[in-house]
Amino acid sequence: MTLQTVYLNGDFMPMEQARISPLDRGFLFADGVYEVIPVYQGQLFEWEAHYQRLENSLAGVFINNPMDNQAWLSVLQQLISLHPWQDQFIYLQISRGQQIPRDHLPQADLIPTVFAYTNPLKPLADSIISHGIKVITLEDIRWQRCDIKSIALLPNVMAKMQAQAAGVDDVILVNQQGYVTEGSASNMMMVKAGEIITPPLSAHILPGVTRQVIEKIANRHHIPFIEREIHQTELDSADELWLASSTKEALPICQLNGQPVADGQPGAIWKQLRQLYQNYKIQTRTRSTI
Ligand code: PLP
Repeated sequence: MTLQTVYLNGDFMPMEQARISPLDRGFLFADGVYEVIPVYQGQLFEWEAHYQRLENSLAGVFINNPMDNQAWLSVLQQLISLHPWQDQFIYLQISRGQQIPRDHLPQADLIPTVFAYTNPLKPLADSIISHGIKVITLEDIRWQRCDIKSIALLPNVMAKMQAQAAGVDDVILVNQQGYVTEGSASNMMMVKAGEIITPPLSAHILPGVTRQVIEKIANRHHIPFIEREIHQTELDSADELWLASSTKEALPICQLNGQPVADGQPGAIWKQLRQLYQNYKIQTRTRSTI
């Protein structure tokens, strides 16, 4: 097992030595935000997009960014270089900091707690490439600011547990009006008649970086990419359904609420997109090393 080094409040240290106060507002109030960033062949993927979203999340909850873009890059690049894995994913979290005594109202002078660590990023399992994943639809019971990447993830955790209890891999969340929002930790896409359709950006979904990359790839390759609301009744006649996130890229959903999606196999557009996505990863890496 590789010993993991983590970054905490200015220092790199073995994971076992990292300590955070029990009065940290992240622990007591889930008062903080996070990012998950893939690393391919030792290089951060779509750093600027992740950094921009981090800034937006921090601004959305009124926490000052404790570091600028270059300082973050330097920390994350050191963290990457301290681990042997070619492909990794970084988790970084900023909470509002420790406050004594506990009070809902934050003190003005708190020092944010900054934590980052990295993990090996595994390729998609062969079984998923061949057979996809199974999902159920579930009511979206989250708050009205899902565009903020908040560490308050209890509804997402509960959704994952409900998926497991139902014997499936994940969920498609549906709002009270019957419209799809996203997955428990991913954006949702539907393919119908050759078009990739996904709910528009709003306060009700996270602006996924993978979603943005898929949009860019689709535009480059003249695959229609349409942003519009998707009613849950449309899912039953979809040609393909996907969930998209940084660590999984696009995942084909092959069973929905116990029924096969189309012929129950990963679809042609997903296969094409998957290949284009791999090419995009190589192209962006080559560009950033020039
Ligand atoms: N939506 C939610 C709720 C998520 O948690 C995530 C990722 O964790 C996404 C969407 C996809 O975002 P990204 O593609 O930036 O990983």
